[in-house]
Amino acid sequence: MKKQAISKQGNVTNTSKIICWQITNKCTKECDFCLSQSTPLKKHVNVAYKKVLKKLKEIGIEKISFSGGEPFGVKEFKEIAEFANQMGFVIIVTSNGDLISSTKYNIEWLKLFQYVKISFYGTKLYHDKIMGIGHYDKLRKLIKKLIKNGIKVGINYMLSNASITFIDSFIKEYQYMGIYSVLIQRYIPTGNPKVDKKYFIETNNINLKLEKYSKYFEKGIKFFDYNINKGFQIILEPNNDVYFPNINDSKKFYYGNLFSNNKIKIENKELSLKEIVSIISKKRLESENIINY
Ligand code: SF4
Repeated sequence: MKKQAISKQGNVTNTSKIICWQITNKCTKECDFCLSQSTPLKKHVNVAYKKVLKKLKEIGIEKISFSGGEPFGVKEFKEIAEFANQMGFVIIVTSNGDLISSTKYNIEWLKLFQYVKISFYGTKLYHDKIMGIGHYDKLRKLIKKLIKNGIKVGINYMLSNASITFIDSFIKEYQYMGIYSVLIQRYIPTGNPKVDKKYFIETNNINLKLEKYSKYFEKGIKFFDYNINKGFQIILEPNNDVYFPNINDSKKFYYGNLFSNNKIKIENKELSLKEIVSIISKKRLESENIINY
């Protein structure tokens, strides 16, 4: 396996100035490993999205990865995506597919996104064990429909101690479908020992050997081998709090509210949010924990 940073990416669609905007904690599912602790019982918070997007521009963000919960459950999500698009952000979205699978759902506007990422947890049997019987086939049908309608589709794959054993079979099932990109993400511990025991991969040395498959995906295959001490992400929560998973220790590092104009101490320097965005963006480019196949 060849480790390689993503520095070859130059244009704005591949910028490293990315924020993951967890736009809601409401979801159609209730996964025990969910890092945003989303459930169907949570309520959507009204999003002052124009204000948020202007602030994101101000701090140097160029790309927004919408996630949740299930972003398509947010009633003004289309407006938010349109506004973000008009402001020049590159936008992508991660979905469990539940709300956009209905034949009545108008998928045309999804072309606003650079691509739509659909989440998987394993091959059919294991995925359905987590997401419910029939879910895997529903997602495959959805993917075919999206691609047929000119929408680019990416696949997210959660690499757990079970799903790692069938990663090859999984990739093979998608190699001829015209998938735009594949992102494999190592399971991130929730801190709940019972849950983590089910999914956490003990070894530090994961060798996936996926080079032979990368040619089948326009943007190739990427593996985020999350390391607890080398965070390279910026997360915006539904209440507008910003945090960085593990920027320099083993805990979530909270900046506070997006609009607070705080300066916080990181590696002995008082930094503004804009400066932190720039530092994390460099960490992302240099990270050995992002592997391109
Ligand atoms: S589908 Fe995703 S967002 Fe929803 S509960 Fe499961 S992990 Fe969380």
